[in-house]
Amino acid sequence: MTSPASDPPPLSGRSFAVLRELMVERQIVARGIRDPLVLAAMRKVPREVFLPESKRDLAYEDAPVPIAAEQTMSQPYIVALMAEALLLQGGDNVLEVGAGSGYAAAVLGEIAGHVTTVERIAALADAAAAKLAELGYRNIDLQQGDGTRGWPQAAPYDAIVVAAAGPQVPESLKAQLKIGGRLVMPVGADQHAQELVRLTRLGPADFTREHLDDVRFVPLLGAEGWPSPEPAGRSARDGR
Ligand code: SAH
Repeated sequence: MTSPASDPPPLSGRSFAVLRELMVERQIVARGIRDPLVLAAMRKVPREVFLPESKRDLAYEDAPVPIAAEQTMSQPYIVALMAEALLLQGGDNVLEVGAGSGYAAAVLGEIAGHVTTVERIAALADAAAAKLAELGYRNIDLQQGDGTRGWPQAAPYDAIVVAAAGPQVPESLKAQLKIGGRLVMPVGADQHAQELVRLTRLGPADFTREHLDDVRFVPLLGAEGWPSPEPAGRSARDGR
């Protein structure tokens, strides 16, 4: 059967590999990302797999891509920028807040020894967990719940990354960082414009704070984030 001439042919796995390489060169390397661990991970993870079929042709665009529940998969450059800012050595213990599609968790999972990622929306958590399992990421533990409280069971962390923007850095997350650990998060009182900051824990109550970039993220909703309009996940529905 032939399709009408106006329909572009569906992208094959090989075409996605070509687009992925172009994305790394034009969006990541060209903008100054140099960490070889981050570049190798960005070259490896199939970003298209984390999108619904109908959105896969947007996978390597230089933009965030809408997923379900009014959330987005972050722009490739932002994923790389945040991963590089974590100063991972390889083999690290990492916490991500806001799993979303699961894509950034997979990038981190390529580098780290273990990744715990928390997602508040149950439907996204389920879909991301299924994708990560399908791709064989055994070192990524996906939890559904309010990540503003962190995940004390796997703490302390070498690195914590928050993929949604809050009014300030949650105290629970600061408390779950190792001494010497790094936390990267968008912070700001304005829900439409934030600054990406890196905190480094120098001692029990001693943190340095650096400005990395101006960014725009979806809101971090939860006990130590913005107040949430309604319960989002299974835990609230089940009363757990
Ligand atoms: N890293 C993701 C980007 C996700 S966008 C990716 O690669 O696709 C941010 C995500 O944070 C959304 O899915 C949103 O539901 C989630 N989120 C917001 N507040 C949260 C909270 N308190 N705990 C966990 N996840 C949260």
